[in-house]
Amino acid sequence: MVGDFHVHTTYSDGELGIRQVVDLYGKAGIRAVAITDHVCEEATLLGKAANYLGKTLTRNNFDAYLSDIEAEADRARILYDMTLIPGVEITKNSLFNHRSAHVVILGIHKWIEPDLCILKICAKAKEQGALTIAAHPVFTRNLEKQTYHLWDRKEELKKVIDLWEVASGKLLFPEVQSEKLPKIANSDLHRSTHLTSWKTKVFADNKQESILDALKKQKIDFVYYQEQLAFLQTRTSSLMT
Ligand code: ZN
Ligand code: ZN
Repeated sequence: MVGDFHVHTTYSDGELGIRQVVDLYGKAGIRAVAITDHVCEEATLLGKAANYLGKTLTRNNFDAYLSDIEAEADRARILYDMTLIPGVEITKNSLFNHRSAHVVILGIHKWIEPDLCILKICAKAKEQGALTIAAHPVFTRNLEKQTYHLWDRKEELKKVIDLWEVASGKLLFPEVQSEKLPKIANSDLHRSTHLTSWKTKVFADNKQESILDALKKQKIDFVYYQEQLAFLQTRTSSLMT
């Protein structure tokens, strides 16, 4: 099945609610989707700004977020045979790109403090059986906040980061492609037009744990989903190293 494991909603800075995301992906035939809203640091200046603007999940609405995902997961299963996975994107934004890091966590069910260090955050994720992903870890060729911290420390962090994004949205990252690291491709969807993007095809049954296990074991392929053409195009053998 084709999946997308990095998607934002109105719980942080996405434009669509969880239900709208489910309908968008369901109609597109995408059968595994992770909702991964930002959990911004509370201590830093940029984190405080995100908190102030309501562009982040907080410990106060985290339970409501999980219940909304759970309720939508039932609807997604019935209507679209879709597996909806609860996740977050721990967001450490500094004024310095080399200090900024975004870690997507899949299969979360307990709050994780965003102000902890990366190693502790990953340990907390693993305690709950969740998967960790280094989000857009290299230059994204876009005028936006760059997050190089995880890539700078990849030798040390490859023990705790399960997957590295080799593509984000429409962009492929040759630096990640050429490394022997476990990989994933995601949209980082914030609005419906972002549906056209790289995604990951997973060879697993539709249980959440089977999907996460297949991702970890790299029983995957990468696909470029072109919305206008409404079909899935596989271009990837060259991507797998
Ligand atoms: Zn991010
Ligand atoms: Zn994101």
